[in-house]
Amino acid sequence: MKPYISIVIPVYNEAGSLPELYAELTDVLGRLAHPYEIVAVDDGSTDESLRVLRDLQAADPHLRIVHFRRNFGQTAAFAAGFDYARGDLIITIDADGQNDPADIPRLLEVLDEGHYDIVSGWRQDRKEPFLTRRLPSMAANRLISRSTGVSLHDYGCSLKIYRADVAKNVHLYGELHRFIPALAGWMGVRVAEVPVRDRPRVYGKSKYGLSRTVRVLLDLFLVTYLLSFSSRPMQLFGLIGLILNSAGGLIGAYLAGAKIVNGIVGGAEGFRAYRIGTSPWLMLAVLLIVLGVQFVVLGLLAEVINRTYHEAQDKSIYAVREVIETQEAE
Ligand code: UDP
Ligand code: MG
Repeated sequence: MKPYISIVIPVYNEAGSLPELYAELTDVLGRLAHPYEIVAVDDGSTDESLRVLRDLQAADPHLRIVHFRRNFGQTAAFAAGFDYARGDLIITIDADGQNDPADIPRLLEVLDEGHYDIVSGWRQDRKEPFLTRRLPSMAANRLISRSTGVSLHDYGCSLKIYRADVAKNVHLYGELHRFIPALAGWMGVRVAEVPVRDRPRVYGKSKYGLSRTVRVLLDLFLVTYLLSFSSRPMQLFGLIGLILNSAGGLIGAYLAGAKIVNGIVGGAEGFRAYRIGTSPWLMLAVLLIVLGVQFVVLGLLAEVINRTYHEAQDKSIYAVREVIETQEAE
């Protein structure tokens, strides 16, 4: 039977957490009485994760395993999960047990009540350290909400529900999974937030360190660009180029003017005495003009590359070794 709900779980060395998470999920989903599947994406785990998944699958055809050839990262795992999911709704959840499956029914309720396209978990009472995790995350959420126009308190929460067509139409690259609601915002989606429980990690350890903060910041620039200018880069680069060019042109004109005025006032002697060749202003004028031209050309290049980018968007960002599913799941 075609599932109504697809649970997508990115799994990277989570052997310890999987059995409990699976039991909790199965319990919650069983009570919901919708046909469902669980798509576990093994992101090149080097521990026993795959064996644990296979053992669970042996007793339960709901479980499908997408086994990556190597570690491609959480974003690629989500992307694969979305591609293989067959349900009308896609629910993402972390494999480490930090999200509580018991929150799923509430998220579903809100999705149905408000005809939302995305319902995002909003972690209350987070268990992670304040300085290295929660503070950067707070700042990131503010920034992302402001610059992308899709306002959420907790972009980083993995527990989210998407309508399948929305999730499947977001093209994910790099580490952009955190920005899915913002990227989907481009389609004009309706997004809601629901408070969810955050639990401490019991098994294994976190796959991310502090360096993630910087990467999220750089990704934010990218997403802002993608959302506001990607289909018209010339409007951004061209504008910067024009501003630089005008500034350089003005300074250059002033220098040339001053030299001529000095010539008129002081004759040939005055003209020669006013030296602009050594003036730092001349350097600045030349620099601005050259930079300005470069920005305009960059804008044109970006326009061309952009067209290639959009043509080639069905390019995959992962390689699947095998899809493991039992006959009944077909
Ligand atoms: N994960 C993954 N591939 C990676 C890193 C992480 O599939 O390269 C999965 C991981 O197994 C977990 C989820 O992404 O299910 C979130 O990772 P983690 O709990 O380490 O992040 P944190 O909660 O510390 O932010
Ligand atoms: Mg975690």
